[in-house]
Amino acid sequence: MISMDTTELNLDFNNTQIAFAHKPDSELKATTLLFKLMNKPRLVEWGSTLSLFALKLHFPFTKWIIKKSIFTQFCGGTTLLETQSTVDHLQRHRVLTVLDYGAEGQSEEPDLDQALQEFLRAIEFAGSNSSIPVVSTKVTALASDEVLERVGRRTDLSTADQAAFERVQDRLDQMCRKAAEIDVKIFVDAEESWMQETIDRMVEEMMEKYNREKVVVYNTFQMYRTDRLDYLKSSYADALAKGYMLGAKLVRGAYMEKERERAAERGYPSPIYPDKQATDHAYDEAVRFCVDHYDTMASCNASHNAASNLLQARLIVERGIHRNHPHLNFCQLQGMSDNITFNLADAGFNVAKYVVYGPVQKVIHYLIRRAEENTSVTGDLSRELALLQKEKLRRGI
Ligand SMILES: Cc1cc2nc3c(=O)[nH]c(=O)nc-3n(C[C@H](O)[C@H](O)[C@H](O)COP(=O)(O)OP(=O)(O)OC[C@H]3O[C@@H](n4cnc5c(N)ncnc54)[C@H](O)[C@@H]3O)c2cc1C
Repeated sequence: MISMDTTELNLDFNNTQIAFAHKPDSELKATTLLFKLMNKPRLVEWGSTLSLFALKLHFPFTKWIIKKSIFTQFCGGTTLLETQSTVDHLQRHRVLTVLDYGAEGQSEEPDLDQALQEFLRAIEFAGSNSSIPVVSTKVTALASDEVLERVGRRTDLSTADQAAFERVQDRLDQMCRKAAEIDVKIFVDAEESWMQETIDRMVEEMMEKYNREKVVVYNTFQMYRTDRLDYLKSSYADALAKGYMLGAKLVRGAYMEKERERAAERGYPSPIYPDKQATDHAYDEAVRFCVDHYDTMASCNASHNAASNLLQARLIVERGIHRNHPHLNFCQLQGMSDNITFNLADAGFNVAKYVVYGPVQKVIHYLIRRAEENTSVTGDLSRELALLQKEKLRRGI
């Protein structure tokens, strides 16, 4: 049980003054308007369909409109160079950057090779910029989903599948090697359970190879899965036994509906906890585990949940660990939960934003997911909108 009052911790996620200090009045008003629009489910539904359609048909001004609105809120830029100003802006407020090239859902070999080149450029960019300690990657940007799934099923692979999978392993290895050489870290995102099996094996191999002296590679643990707390613990024990350090990024998990639907369709038990409370419990247990073992592993609490962020901050302070210990990190997505990010930074913790970048047509699905996340089904204000309106009221604008 943790008993500490928030004064000692010097951290208050309701402090909107600190949360939005980086936004001048004009920007605060524009962001509020954007979140007001996103609060409407119908508008988001229509807007998403229309944007996809217009982008496909190369309608004039589509990219420009997206760039001037939702893209500015949730992305860093279309290129690395354009992203620099977002990185600098965050750094001025003591917030680090996790660079995330927004490619997803690709399966053709030239696209996968092109994604690798972009990730390598991102790693080099991070290597020359002290406020970008991490580059995030998705194995699904380096491999076709079908190959990952077939490898996971361990059925007899065709020679073509085998060759394709070796190329995927090589792409990930090239990235991790480069990152290790120039002191950048790699977060590997977690995906749907039917691909995750393969991703886990690949990331374990990379950690064994590159996490000997320091933590370079991090796997992602989706705590909405009933088997992940045990997997976190066994990954830690395995790393210790094999003489390397575990890197663990904790998330709740993004594919709950898809996972449940597929399990129901195919008649196997859903891998997801039956309710939110159980997911929250597992998540907080994982946070405790990572803090308990911070001297022999590194972690990142990647969540917009205030209670789980507060829990980690409290544990760090209560145990007298340095607030900015490099093994204990926090991370939120660019454009969301500024109340958590900027208040953690102000209180001296290691916190970063995931800054997604890439051409509009590559990041459009990411943007649609962010818009959907911020709609209100009940008609209430979304979490973000309520905070923005509170700050507007405080400033009297
Ligand atoms: C920096 C960052 C990186 C991320 N990387 C990944 C990644 O690599 N892979 C990935 O899958 N996701 C990733 N996510 C998304 C993440 O998994 C969550 O979907 C999202 O952050 C919402 O969870 P939360 O902890 O922020 O907060 P909350 O809003 O408290 O939690 C919402 C989450 O709780 C779970 N949940 C909700 N209802 C139920 C229910 N009825 N039963 C069981 N569980 C339920 C779901 O996971 C849901 O997404 C990332 C998020 C961040 C901030």
